[in-house]
Amino acid sequence: MKRLRRLVELVCGVDPGLRRMLHYWAATCLLYVACIVQILVQIDHGFSDPAVAHPLIRYGCAVAAGFYLLIRFSARIGLKPDQLAVSQALFSLVCTMFLYAISGPLRGATLVMTVVVIAFCMFAARPRQTLMLSLTALAGMGATMWYLAASDPARFPPAQEAQSFGYLAAALLSTALLSGEMHKLRSRLKHQRRELSDALDTIRVLATVDELTSLVNRRRMHEVLAAEERRQPSTRGTCIALLDMDFFKQVNDQCGHAAGDSVLRCFSQAARACLRGEDVLARWGGEEFLLLLPDASLDDARGVLERMLDGVHAMPVPGVEDRRISFSAGLATRQPGEPFADAIHRADKALYRAKEEGRDRIVSA
Ligand code: GH3
Ligand code: MG
Ligand code: MG
Repeated sequence: MKRLRRLVELVCGVDPGLRRMLHYWAATCLLYVACIVQILVQIDHGFSDPAVAHPLIRYGCAVAAGFYLLIRFSARIGLKPDQLAVSQALFSLVCTMFLYAISGPLRGATLVMTVVVIAFCMFAARPRQTLMLSLTALAGMGATMWYLAASDPARFPPAQEAQSFGYLAAALLSTALLSGEMHKLRSRLKHQRRELSDALDTIRVLATVDELTSLVNRRRMHEVLAAEERRQPSTRGTCIALLDMDFFKQVNDQCGHAAGDSVLRCFSQAARACLRGEDVLARWGGEEFLLLLPDASLDDARGVLERMLDGVHAMPVPGVEDRRISFSAGLATRQPGEPFADAIHRADKALYRAKEEGRDRIVSA
């Protein structure tokens, strides 16, 4: 199984874009095979001369194999998908001209292949390239028909060739127009997909991050706590702390609500700078914050909170220069297997005591 996967990777690469191009190439090869079978039947029925049909088959197979190598190593050579599509289409168009020339009374039917070649390009080439290819196909096929009618008018009556040319022109120009519409549709779809993915990113952020402080919001914190509850308890323990800004109503009343917002923003920056990698600080509501300290003893947790308190004392807040900003915190250890709701309840009680004892402090449950 592993060997098979390695073989597929060797043949098709791992890049999804490359694999898509090779799928198109494989589809083109199926078309070549169908044409080769037709030519062999034509030879059998005496419609085609084997002396010219066989070299055409060999030429087709060799160039198709060459295209596989060009596509497989296109990144290394620096060939873009549209360049590959156009060169492959040009090669196929030359084949269809020869096919037309060698197909005798069946040549009218082979014109379908010219349209199929252009239709294949719709997915990789740009509309201008498809239009140029259609015009090239028309010019090439026109020249072939003219040459055949001029050199052997008995087998290729000029009026009949002119009629065939008219049908081909109508079909190719319609296909080129359709290709333009298809390109517009694909561009619109690509744009919409990008917009959707951007909107999804925004929704994801809005659903998990608090807009004012850029901290984890309450909704996301519930998920974090639920995940922590499912985790194997650590030997050092887990702590939880509830933090509440001191005299915040006064900050709002005396310095204004905007200054209050600045305090919350500065608090979140100063607090985050003191956290360990695994700690999670969330805006629990208003000017209350919940801090989860996994793998932390009570002493570790107290150390983190003291650093936070020092950081908050020292933080400069624009518009609130003449006030000492502080917070009170209630700290609790979560017992192994205990729901976080219970530990938070104890932390809340400890916070209440911190407020009662004079604020600007950390009290353990
Ligand atoms: P205490 O020390 O007892 O906690 O006193 P306090 O004034 O901080 O009282 P409390 O915690 O009840 O105050 C909460 C205040 O926080 C009330 C509300 O106006 C303010 N607040 C809540 N959210 C925001 C916010 O997003 N921005 C601002 N500027 N103020 C907020
Ligand atoms: Mg409060
Ligand atoms: Mg408060």
